[in-house]
Amino acid sequence: RLRVCVCVFVFIALTGTRATCSAGSLRGARVLVTGASTGIGEQLAYCYARLGAQVVITARRENVLQQVSVLALGAQKALYVTGDMATTSDPSRVVKFAVDELGGLDYLVLNHIGRYSFSPWSGDVHHVRGLMEVNFLSYVQLASAALPSLEKSKGSIVVVSSLLGKVSTPFTAPYTATKFAVNGFFCTLQHELAMRSSDVSLTISILGLVDTESAMEKVRVVPYPAGEAALHVVRAGSLRQKESFYPWYTHLVCLVRDWCPFFRDVIIRNSYY
Ligand code: NDP
Repeated sequence: RLRVCVCVFVFIALTGTRATCSAGSLRGARVLVTGASTGIGEQLAYCYARLGAQVVITARRENVLQQVSVLALGAQKALYVTGDMATTSDPSRVVKFAVDELGGLDYLVLNHIGRYSFSPWSGDVHHVRGLMEVNFLSYVQLASAALPSLEKSKGSIVVVSSLLGKVSTPFTAPYTATKFAVNGFFCTLQHELAMRSSDVSLTISILGLVDTESAMEKVRVVPYPAGEAALHVVRAGSLRQKESFYPWYTHLVCLVRDWCPFFRDVIIRNSYY
């Protein structure tokens, strides 16, 4: 019986992560990607560009954004705007720039994160507050500034989230808190959009460990490639999926996480020694 259960869940996890992408559906689409100077955001910019979208990318470092926009070959348009998501005025300014330059918006891809360390909780409340501002509150501001344009275009919000917003592990308390907040807020918004029959779709992509520079500074386990993760996020958004999981094991973990909390926590804690 256990074997049957495991097979069923592996099947659900695998089919839940698989999606096919119609490049045609993204040709000419007007896309704003945040945190696009490095890592998954940079790969997202290249994916949308390859699929013929019009892309605005944003982050803080202008010189890096400039390089990414030059490399975003294939894009009908590739523009950048600098913005610091720790400040309260920048999220709406960035959305306004994208809407003005692109003549509207079809996709808002929320991806950026502030820096955090992989270490035990030190009691630094100031850091948590700052990270909440960047990783969570700016997502809320960006979404609310973009919603009127997305309603007009029947567009999509795509939220890049983490398995750490579903399951807690040691040494990432501030980051984990922000990702739980992101999942909680945007899952609630999904209900509300559905209840008022909005045409805006909202996709939450749950990612496991991916080989970006910032993640590899923190842990030394086998990661999955950022390019593949980005393609997964682009596909999930274009298919208007409610929730998507990459790689496959993240779905399995979410399905079984509350089955045996005692053993789950023993496994999690022992994997750090
Ligand atoms: P990176 O650290 O590689 O990139 C973060 C991006 O955010 C950079 O472009 C950075 O650019 C930008 N950024 C940082 N601070 C600010 C700020 N204050 N204002 C505006 N932009 C800012 O992150 P990853 O690519 O690793 O992660 C991307 C997403 O994927 C995140 O949402 C993360 O939670 C999720 N994820 C990643 C995993 C992984 O293993 N990598 C696993 C699970 C989820 P700049 O410094 O120029 O501002």
